[in-house]
Amino acid sequence: MTDGAPRRILLVEDEPGLVLTLTDRLRDEGYLVETAGDGETGLERAASERFDLVLLDVMLPRRNGFDMCRALRERDILTPVIMLTARGHVADKVSGLKLGADDYVTKPFEMVELLARIEAQLRRAPFALSAAGTYEFGSIRIDLRSAEVHRDGAEVELSAREFRLLCYLIEHRGATVSRDELLTEVWGYRAAPSTRTVDVHVAWLRQKIEPNPRHPQYLLTIHGLGYKFVG
Ligand code: CA
Repeated sequence: MTDGAPRRILLVEDEPGLVLTLTDRLRDEGYLVETAGDGETGLERAASERFDLVLLDVMLPRRNGFDMCRALRERDILTPVIMLTARGHVADKVSGLKLGADDYVTKPFEMVELLARIEAQLRRAPFALSAAGTYEFGSIRIDLRSAEVHRDGAEVELSAREFRLLCYLIEHRGATVSRDELLTEVWGYRAAPSTRTVDVHVAWLRQKIEPNPRHPQYLLTIHGLGYKFVG
């Protein structure tokens, strides 16, 4: 699901040696790497530019990593976040995941482990679709780069969550996707809301993309199993 377009990673870390090492290695792996040395700058950049992933240190000047992560999620920005936590700070891991981080790596880490976790996050990110540019079905046109959806040429307002849900279902079109899978892959964090949350969001999405939301033709309910996108 990629045309080889390089993925953009934002590294938010204040330790110069680590910034250098990580940047070099990630660039060797073909990623585009941008850096921010404090949490405030990191937040500004992550909120105003499109990144495929954020690597986020916990102990940072101006705004710590937890705070930055929470602020991102409060703004409905769902870019995958991997937190870099200090060794042995179990509470750090729990806090990070509760605040909306998708994964964590404990310092000092093996580079291969970090790379594997980055790849895993990028695989599940809906923006893997973004290389394709646009996707169309019925009267709906999705611009994956700008994250805009148009219906008969008029813009439809989708929340970031609805957009991510729609992208995930489209990426798996033709397959039945369970509510649990959607919670894990779209909501991401482990402090998972109930599966009812999925139903509510699907209902909202249908209002926006279905010609007749009462009789969906694209976003189908597969009774007892989950949902399926066809189109
Ligand atoms: Ca630090």
